[in-house]
Amino acid sequence: MFADLHLHTLFSDGTYTPEELTGQGARFGLSAMALTDHDTVEGCARMAAACRTAGIQFIPGTELTAEYGGNELHLLGYFIDTENQKLLEEIAKFQVVRQQRIHEMVARINELNIPLKADDVFALANCRSPGRPHVARALVKAGLCHSLDEAFERFLKKNRPAWVPKKKMSAMEGIDLIHQAGGLAVMAHPGLNRTDEVIPDLVTAGLDGIECFHTKHSPSVSSHYLEIADRFGLLITGGSDCHGMSKGRPLIGTVKLPYEHVEKLMEAVRKRARPPAASPVRDNSK
Ligand code: AMP
Ligand code: FE
Ligand code: FE
Ligand code: ZN
Repeated sequence: MFADLHLHTLFSDGTYTPEELTGQGARFGLSAMALTDHDTVEGCARMAAACRTAGIQFIPGTELTAEYGGNELHLLGYFIDTENQKLLEEIAKFQVVRQQRIHEMVARINELNIPLKADDVFALANCRSPGRPHVARALVKAGLCHSLDEAFERFLKKNRPAWVPKKKMSAMEGIDLIHQAGGLAVMAHPGLNRTDEVIPDLVTAGLDGIECFHTKHSPSVSSHYLEIADRFGLLITGGSDCHGMSKGRPLIGTVKLPYEHVEKLMEAVRKRARPPAASPVRDNSK
């Protein structure tokens, strides 16, 4: 039995609907799937229903954009209550900033005499959590770029003319936000960020797990993070980070997390919901 715990739909920058994504998961024989759209939980209700019909275990999740010590990092939240008020309020702020950022990126593209319309980006994105891939797709759709790669290379990559930095929450806030929504906080694709030095501080702040298996992790990178998970007592997760067709090919099916890790996550959530009666009281006076 296998799981894929890192998946995106068109509720952020993926191209599959929750139903299509679930269908792909069924095709690859997945036993469990987690939806982790960027800064949103909008797709979770539909995905839960689709997974129920398909006989696949669904884990509600999200991927928050955070930073620590000047480094961007992504935090996956698993088993979150998708109706948690504080979570919804916080991510709504990030969604507003994402929408403003689209206007800024389009304005910068317009300054280069490229007639992209913000409304066309929003119409294409049709979600609360739009991002650079939607701008890239709108550029291609309007015939202003030949490919998504060209759009990123010419305009959208870091330090290119239309690049606008993204608002990030602090990693500590992100971990707390996930916890107060009943979830587990997991560091996403650490091999892409290569900021291992932040891990001990995140563990102190309550980090629960680390994504050891990811499409862009080589076997040696995965082994490295498995060793770190062991050293810090972190839960192990993994996923394809499938964005549907937006990255050329759908990645679902390329990472198969053994189901035993899902069981360990479930056990950790149960423990969180019902802390042991004799848990030591923390002394904050030091
Ligand atoms: P944003 O959250 O708006 O900053 O956009 C980040 C998304 O853009 C992530 O899903 C990235 O994988 C995607 N992305 C970054 N660089 C590229 C690229 N060169 N081609 C296609 N997608 C990219
Ligand atoms: Fe993405
Ligand atoms: Fe990510
Ligand atoms: Zn992702």
